[in-house]
Amino acid sequence: MKKAALLLVITISNFIHAQNAFEANFSDTNRPSNKSFYVTFTDDKNNIDSIPIVILKGENTGPVFTMVSGVHGYEYPPIIAAQELLQELETDKLTGTLIILPMANPSAFFGRTPFLNPTDDVNLNRTFPGSKSGSITEQIANFISNEIIAKTDVFLDIHGGDANEDLFPFACYYNNTDNPKETAMAKKLAEASGFSHVVSYSYNLKKTEPAKYAFKQAVQDGKIALSLESGKLGQVQTEAVDLIKTGVYNMLSEMNMYNSEIKSTTDFKNITEQSYLKSEYQGIFTSDFKAGDTVTEGEIIGHIKDIFGVTLTVLKAPNTGIILYKIGTPPVNKDETVICIGYRIK
Ligand SMILES: [Zn+2]
Repeated sequence: MKKAALLLVITISNFIHAQNAFEANFSDTNRPSNKSFYVTFTDDKNNIDSIPIVILKGENTGPVFTMVSGVHGYEYPPIIAAQELLQELETDKLTGTLIILPMANPSAFFGRTPFLNPTDDVNLNRTFPGSKSGSITEQIANFISNEIIAKTDVFLDIHGGDANEDLFPFACYYNNTDNPKETAMAKKLAEASGFSHVVSYSYNLKKTEPAKYAFKQAVQDGKIALSLESGKLGQVQTEAVDLIKTGVYNMLSEMNMYNSEIKSTTDFKNITEQSYLKSEYQGIFTSDFKAGDTVTEGEIIGHIKDIFGVTLTVLKAPNTGIILYKIGTPPVNKDETVICIGYRIK
C-alpha cells in the first residue's frame, strides 16, 4: 500500500514535471528563441520514456504550427526530415511559433518496433485522446492532446509506410463539414505542400468518440490539422525525406510564417474516396503491383497462399484507382488491410 502510494506520488510528480517543462518553455515570452528539452513519462510499472520537444519562436508573434514525426517509430523518413529541419530552420526567418516533436515514440524507434510502443504494446496512433494515468503510450497521447494540440493552430502529423508497408506519397486531411473554415485551410495547406496527390478522408466522428489518430484528435478539437505520408518499407529514401521537408517549408510559406526559397508545385490531384481490401486469411501475400500503380476494378492484384503454397484467395481490385498503400512484404494476417486504393481522382 505504502509502495503504491509512493509510486503514485512519483507518477504524479513526473507528470507535473512533464507538463511544467512544456508549459514553462512555451509560455516564456522571450523572442526569438530556440529551446530543446525532454518531457518524461513514467507509468505504474516503472517504465520511463522521454520525448524530445523543440520550440522555435520568431521575433514576431503569429500562428502556432506543430509538426510531429515518429508517432510510429519504424517510419524513418518523417524522423530524418524533422532532424534535418531542426538543423536548417532559422528563427530570424520565422514569424510565430513552431513546436516540433521530432520523435514522438522513442521506445518504438530504438526498439525497432513497427506500429507499437514495445513498452506497453500499444499503438500510439490508435490511442488518442489517451489517458493521464494510463500506460506510457496512453500518457504520451494524453500529453499531445491536452498540452500540444490545445496550444496549436495548425497540427501536422507526419507518417510513411511502416516496416512492411509500400506507400505512394500523399498529403491528407479530413473533410470535416462541421468546421468549414479549418477544413478549407487544411485543404489549402495540403494542396500547397508540393505533394502530387491530396487525399481527403470522410469525417463523421462524434464529439464524444475517441479520435484514436493524432491528427484526427486535432480535427475533433477544432484545429487546422493534416498529415503527410512519405517513405516506405522501414527504410530511409532520400526523396521521401526531401518531399516531407519541401512540404513543411511550403506549408509554412503558405501560412506566411517562414521565408524560404522552396516553391510549391501547383500540379496536384485530389483523391476523395478510398477503398480498403482486407484479408480473410492468415497467409503469404504475393502481388506484382506497387504503391502508386493504377488498377482497374476487378483486376487481379494479388494472391494469398497458405504455408504449403496452396492459393487461399485471389484478390481483385475493388475499384479503379491508384494504390495508395499496400502490404509490401509476404506475411498477412486475418482482417489486415492488404491494399488501400484511392479513387475519384480529379
Ligand atoms: Zn504511421
